[in-house]
Amino acid sequence: MARCLIGCGANAGEPREQLERALELLRFMPGINLLAVSRPRQTVAVGGPAGQPPFLNGACLIDTELGPHELLDLLAAVENTLHRDRSVRWGPRTIDLDLLLYGDLVIDEPEQAESAHGRRRAALTVPHPRMATRRFVLEPCAEIAPEAVHPLSGCTVRELLDNISSPHLHVAVVGVPGSGAAEVAAAIADATMARLVRHPLPLPTGADPGPWQEALAAWAHALETPPPVVDEAVAVPVETVADCWLGMLLLAAETALPAAALADFRRRFTRFAPTTTAPHVAVVAVATAEALAERLAFQARAGGHSDVFRDAGIALETRDPGATATALVTLQERLLDRLQPRDQGCDDPLAPLRPPAVVVVRADDLGRAVDEGIAAVEAVT
Ligand code: ADP
Ligand code: MG
Repeated sequence: MARCLIGCGANAGEPREQLERALELLRFMPGINLLAVSRPRQTVAVGGPAGQPPFLNGACLIDTELGPHELLDLLAAVENTLHRDRSVRWGPRTIDLDLLLYGDLVIDEPEQAESAHGRRRAALTVPHPRMATRRFVLEPCAEIAPEAVHPLSGCTVRELLDNISSPHLHVAVVGVPGSGAAEVAAAIADATMARLVRHPLPLPTGADPGPWQEALAAWAHALETPPPVVDEAVAVPVETVADCWLGMLLLAAETALPAAALADFRRRFTRFAPTTTAPHVAVVAVATAEALAERLAFQARAGGHSDVFRDAGIALETRDPGATATALVTLQERLLDRLQPRDQGCDDPLAPLRPPAVVVVRADDLGRAVDEGIAAVEAVT
């Protein structure tokens, strides 16, 4: 038996009737025990084509004997019964049912996983990958299950809602050099009228501890410099968007420095990290090895005149784009693992730096990454 949170939304046809009908279908489904239903609330559509009608959003809490895939299939069947049109991503919909939490289960399947019988089934991700920044999801959830725990962040639903309600919201766009994090950060800052904070120094490479210590000092300096005073009369939902995350410096050092130098760097880092503030939201730009190799090759051809790798020292040594891309992918995997670890070590120097909300955007197509990043951040309002 698993306790699950399900998010519901509708903005086409007759939203109120469709929400009620979906809940009725769930109520009478064998294997599902409907425990609580939030009140519906009207919200502005986020992401997707412009000019969409507003949504009616809600959430429900269930106990179920169904497995996670069975439950997702059933939600899709209910969507189909209510004539869900899937032709436009984030387009208008008669009903949207999202599996937000399935107990404390964590599943992140690659897209288009094949079932044992070779039948294509929908990839499942729980917790729902975009829930932690969505006010239209967290508010109804907090109404019916404030203490439900999001197993990746370790936060309750109430804490996730409080997190995005912070009066001075800080967003960090994180990614390995060449992932497009800098471009995505600039676009999000533009779209939300937030202050853009750029990385103080490119990420060092190599086993010489000097540049790493310089980078840490540059961070300390940048974080000491007080931000310009925010004009309280201008209400900005997002205060700053940074194109970097301090934790990345440690992760990169772990892949480059020899043991003794790393131990020393780690000690300095551990002293410094708790004096800074963690971002509330991380948007992680993730690119494939192919995309990274292609960008590196382009950078090499452009002879340093391309901007794509301005966030990296490696810009200058791209003789073997394939090997460099492989190293970047390893660093990227490390980033994804350590940003939201399933078991946290008790003396993890990254602990004070972890944002409660993490949203991954696929950055092979930078235009799409920008759209997804903006949608994730606009959903906090
Ligand atoms: P959103 O999830 O942002 O509301 P869509 O409903 O358009 O966006 O996308 C849903 C797609 O994601 C579907 O193809 C569905 O199979 C897949 N999916 C993966 N994990 C989940 C989940 N936990 N809940 C709902 N849909 C999921
Ligand atoms: Mg959905």
